[in-house]
Amino acid sequence: MGQSWSTQPGVSKHRVRRRSLRKFIWQFPVILVGDSTVGKTSIVLRLTEGTFREDLQKTIGVDYYIHVLETTPTVRVKLQVWDTAGEKEHRTITQSHLRTILGGLLVFDLTNRQSLDYIRNWLVETCTVLDQCKCIFILVGHKSDLSAERQISQEEAEHIAADLGVRYIETSAKDDTNIQDVFLILASSIAESVKTEVSEVKGGMHGLTEINPVFLK
Ligand code: GDP
Ligand code: MG
Repeated sequence: MGQSWSTQPGVSKHRVRRRSLRKFIWQFPVILVGDSTVGKTSIVLRLTEGTFREDLQKTIGVDYYIHVLETTPTVRVKLQVWDTAGEKEHRTITQSHLRTILGGLLVFDLTNRQSLDYIRNWLVETCTVLDQCKCIFILVGHKSDLSAERQISQEEAEHIAADLGVRYIETSAKDDTNIQDVFLILASSIAESVKTEVSEVKGGMHGLTEINPVFLK
């Protein structure tokens, strides 16, 4: 772990080139938070299966999905996506998962103003846990395809996101708008923050291998 092979004397050029083509693979646990029916499960199913259904079963407790993507040509990220239920009775499960996650999506329904209040309340309730984990969140205005029923404008949502200190993105699982992109932005932002933190602690890129990534052959 953390070996500085590229500067070792006696390492052949061929070997250096082969190793430089290897990839980091990181595993980031992330969470989807939001009121019931805002579309969290639909977002994950569009991401992982490329499907959309009008008649989804309610999520009970927490489900988790895996999605692999590349944030740069040399960094591959395995996202563990935790899909939570919005109901209060399942909130304790969400709290326990929060301690391990690195970030997530705060999802509200653009056609339901109340769902935006849910995000604010959720943040207030969990801010002590979040302060400890230094997570990266993105505010997501979902169901952007329903433009005629919209209750929250892009300007208003951007304003709220700025207040919360997070980015804002609009998505639709129905017409597949920004679903891949929002996870790519999330994974890239986490990768960037992990890299910065580890470089500060370890004094360089090689420390990265000690978080949890391994080299791929
Ligand atoms: P969850 O409770 O937050 O997991 O929400 P679901 O994913 O179960 O979705 C609740 C309802 O909203 C379902 O009827 C979905 O078909 C619908 N839905 C989800 N995403 C979208 C979307 O992008 N556009 C539209 N029009 N409906 C959506
Ligand atoms: Mg669900």
